[in-house]
Amino acid sequence: VRIKGNYKYEIGELGSTLNYMAQEIVRSNQVKDDFISSISHELRTPLTSIKGWSETLISGGYDPDETKIGMQIITKETDRLIGLVEEILDFSKLQHNEMKMVMGIVSLRELLQEIMLNLWAKAEKKGVQIKLESEEKPMIYGDANRLKQVFLNLVDNAIKFSHENGTILLSIDMEDKFVTVTVRDYGIGISEEHIQRVKDRFFQVNHVNGGTGLGLAITQQLVELHHGTIDLESELEKGTTVKVKLPLPEGKIPMAGGFSDGE
Ligand code: ADP
Repeated sequence: VRIKGNYKYEIGELGSTLNYMAQEIVRSNQVKDDFISSISHELRTPLTSIKGWSETLISGGYDPDETKIGMQIITKETDRLIGLVEEILDFSKLQHNEMKMVMGIVSLRELLQEIMLNLWAKAEKKGVQIKLESEEKPMIYGDANRLKQVFLNLVDNAIKFSHENGTILLSIDMEDKFVTVTVRDYGIGISEEHIQRVKDRFFQVNHVNGGTGLGLAITQQLVELHHGTIDLESELEKGTTVKVKLPLPEGKIPMAGGFSDGE
């Protein structure tokens, strides 16, 4: 009787596990379908514009100023396509564990300052101010380009989802063995209902800003490749705070130029 009882219990548990797995498969297929449809849309928009402008320019009869505008749009849309394809390739490399890392000593402060410069024009257009609050100058061991990609994506999102004339605060906090970089915005935020889905892959709350929903997925995996963690907190209409926690190298803190391989 006891054996039968246990058996029944196990079947019951197996049933609920299978049920859960089935729900997960349906959900993950839905996420993939949504992803493919948003990628297709993202590819189609610049292609339509490039085709339209090329045909217009081929048909001729435009003055040099109009021709220049057309060529500028074609260049901008081509850059958008290249960025998109690079994003898809990065994601695929990360999925297959094929991302090559070029490790070295990286100054996080200099990296953030570089990002502020890179995104200055974009922020300025919206009247958004980006402030780097702390004086800390941590050096960490990592891939400078990939770390730049992480913070570019986070600050870019902060600008995208800020209100006009908003403020973005960047800060660096040092602990014994870790450093935390915080990117805080006071923009549209994410509702409680959507936050878990944003943390899952590919999900976009609103599609009006374009994008594939790949940014955060790539960012998270790049942080993990640096043995770090990423944490996102957000409240609708209050803003979003993203914290990236990265390990500091053990032993002596390396000085700029003093170390070649971070050992
Ligand atoms: P995308 O490249 O489409 O912006 P991300 O993965 O970077 O993709 O972001 C996914 C979604 O998460 C965004 O479309 C947006 O809905 C939400 N999101 C990300 N960052 C923020 C932020 N700082 N404020 C509000 N929403 C955000």
